[in-house]
Amino acid sequence: MFERVDMASNEQISITINDQPVEVDPGTTILEAVKQLGLSIPTLCALPTLPSNGACRLCMVEVEDEPYLQAACTYRINHPTSVATHTPHILDSRRMTMELLMTRCLNNKEPYTGDERFQQLAYELGIRHPRFTASDTSAPIDNSSPAVRFNANACIQCGLCVSACGDMQQVYAISMNGKGVHQQVQPGLNRLLNETECTACGQCSVVCPTGAFVEQDHTSDVLNALGDRDKMVIAVISPSVSSAMALEFGMDSKAEVSGKLVHVLKQIGFDMVFSATVGHDLLALETAFELRSRMESGQNLPLIISSCPALVKQVEHQFPDLLPHLSANRSPAQMFGRVLKTYYSERLERDASEVIVVQITPCLAGKYERQRHELEGVDIVITSRELTRLLRSASGYALHTLSDVPFDTPFNDLSGSGVLSEVSGGTMEAILRTFFELKSGTELQQIEFDALRHVQPLREAEITVDDETLQVAVAYDLGHGNTILQRIQDDQTAYHLVEIMACPGGCVGGGGQPEFGTPESIQTMAELMYEMDQELDIRKPRKNPSVNQIYENVLKMPSGAQSQALLQTTFTERGRY
Ligand code: SF4
Repeated sequence: MFERVDMASNEQISITINDQPVEVDPGTTILEAVKQLGLSIPTLCALPTLPSNGACRLCMVEVEDEPYLQAACTYRINHPTSVATHTPHILDSRRMTMELLMTRCLNNKEPYTGDERFQQLAYELGIRHPRFTASDTSAPIDNSSPAVRFNANACIQCGLCVSACGDMQQVYAISMNGKGVHQQVQPGLNRLLNETECTACGQCSVVCPTGAFVEQDHTSDVLNALGDRDKMVIAVISPSVSSAMALEFGMDSKAEVSGKLVHVLKQIGFDMVFSATVGHDLLALETAFELRSRMESGQNLPLIISSCPALVKQVEHQFPDLLPHLSANRSPAQMFGRVLKTYYSERLERDASEVIVVQITPCLAGKYERQRHELEGVDIVITSRELTRLLRSASGYALHTLSDVPFDTPFNDLSGSGVLSEVSGGTMEAILRTFFELKSGTELQQIEFDALRHVQPLREAEITVDDETLQVAVAYDLGHGNTILQRIQDDQTAYHLVEIMACPGGCVGGGGQPEFGTPESIQTMAELMYEMDQELDIRKPRKNPSVNQIYENVLKMPSGAQSQALLQTTFTERGRY
């Protein structure tokens, strides 16, 4: 018999896994211990930043003295024991479970739509077709959301989407309803997705292992625009997309591929290609002026940065009292899009509708934002995942073989502040690089704000430069964002500036990216962005020549009448359901 260990003890526990000894902290799950040994067992519903619920039952293992198989993702080790992970009995159980999961989606008549994890696992377990038949009739596909498409027929009820939407984002747009074979993932109160409080962040589509939740595909809209000779088609591409493309095409994530992406986008017909970092700098500069003005008047503080469309929708639904705190600025993509449409339609004497702006982005919420009637800077939004498909199907080029082509003039300058804006805390850092110079009238020497550079999802800091002190708060994911918003609503804080990004780690972990943002991937991407910032010559929004071109040719001055007309908007209280 094993020796029981006091739960309060921090002493490591000795266990064996497949006869290999390993020491673990009390409370470690078997799945974590298995990974500690460098082994792997199949899982579908265990992700590091979401609570495990043991729903998929694929990670079942044998544990000494336990009468039944146990889910490795939820079983916590509190005493010495021995575990077996791949006995014939376990393999039988996994195959049966996989067949039952596959049976759940036999009503799916659609061709395979996305993530390959489910199909790969079935293949690895040696199952080509389940022995069982589907008993239910097929469910209608929910196409109501402009961002996310839900095909209930492909759903295996693993619950990851419900956890991402509820546990992580505190949106609760979808839930698990019914019991047993009648259990189903559904939008709340059996409504359509666009009738709920869904913020279109798209994290459900990143975690879904079967393609039941996927992005609405707009690649054909891009091809149609490229085929229309009467249209000028402009691509605006985010730096996070470049990093995702490097990985998708088998290159190092640190490989600089933006020049190759410009090359291939030109090859498939885009007239012009710009970097989204110009829009980020424009937002940072305009928001710095707005912050100065609010600090002087003392009104509507804290200022909540409005660059994330999913956060804006969360405030509109859940915290309407805080709407006056939102910055009046549109998102960086919408700002830059309106500038591009204005600039080229005037210059080429064409109607703005003939200038098509395609946003290529990690942001699924951009698809929702595109169709907000009051925001009309972007015509088509495609995500990193769609760009992968577009390049594979429409170009035939191997990315790594292409030479670098520069971004188009006159908005061709990359800045460190613009790159940083894709990672949590980066937009605030870019704003501060301008704000403190506006206040002091002198050049800011120390432009890195270490207090904002942590991977923790919620950070508060007091930042002092010369005589000016700001209380700030930064959060990523909407659940941690809600904590900050609640504190503001309850008057528990005296923040001046708040940044909340809906996705894990910020836009680098956006709903349109190929991978779910884990703590490790967030750290890696953040470090990559910090390195890029350090290596670029231009590191402040107001030093970006492309931004200066925009003021010279279109806006005339920061925070002026043109900025108000082109870059700003109003937000609306939306109901709760
Ligand atoms: Fe879009 Fe970035 Fe907000 Fe995610 S964090 S919804 S990618 S703006």
